[in-house]
Amino acid sequence: MNLVLLGPPGAGKGTQAARIGERYGVRHVSTGETFRQAAARDDELGRTVQPYLESGGLVPDEVVIRVVLARIAAEECAGGWLLDGFPRTVGQAEALDEALRASEGRLQAALLIEVDDGEIVERLSGRRVCPTSGAIYHIRYNPPQRAGVCDIDGKPLIQREDDRPEVVGERLKKYHAQTAPLIPYYEQQGVLLRVSGTAKMPDEVSAQIWELLNGRNRKQEPA
Ligand code: ADP
Ligand code: AMP
Repeated sequence: MNLVLLGPPGAGKGTQAARIGERYGVRHVSTGETFRQAAARDDELGRTVQPYLESGGLVPDEVVIRVVLARIAAEECAGGWLLDGFPRTVGQAEALDEALRASEGRLQAALLIEVDDGEIVERLSGRRVCPTSGAIYHIRYNPPQRAGVCDIDGKPLIQREDDRPEVVGERLKKYHAQTAPLIPYYEQQGVLLRVSGTAKMPDEVSAQIWELLNGRNRKQEPA
């Protein structure tokens, strides 16, 4: 199964991606996480992407496309992939389509997690992440067992630099201008599945996703 996750920053893509990956055995590929790790290593990719991460701008298409196409062609993604944070522009979606055509692969679904802008700031200001395990928490909606400490590896949780309100505004603007056009794009391809992300518990959102993906798998089974 090959999937993409769409939705504004803070919609819950990373939270749901971890669960979908576990349930369906598909590889979770997060471009944001890949870039943050590169920035922390301060390698060539990291130095290229750092100014975009800091300002909430989009990393140029050619850089992102190169990184993602290499990842999905690798052995780790042979059993299927789930892209979280990619594509974010029509140019990226077209590059993905072209790569799929060349490899005779197919996109089963583009899952859109919908959340209003009003809720995004609260979501992002309460987000805490573990820099080592990658686990995502929220101080109110999905707190760790012990405040400030990761349930998985016991490391201190941090707040992402780009979750500051002044950067969140820029990220939302970019989402509406550059990424939202992917909604009609995937609708036209007949692969768009809409999920309400406003449920106050990640479990409720997951339940909607299981229903949609199970329905889609049933439809695609040969008669
Ligand atoms: P994205 O990957 O789309 O940016 P995240 O998965 O990191 O979003 O979620 C953003 C924040 O919202 C996190 O703090 C997460 O714990 C919280 N969150 C995720 N899903 C829900 C939900 N259904 N209700 C409330 N908060 C949620
Ligand atoms: P995310 O973790 O998905 O919120 O992404 C964090 C940041 O990484 C974004 O604000 C962008 O600067 C950059 N980024 C991640 N994915 C992409 C992409 N597909 N295209 C351009 N920039 C991206």
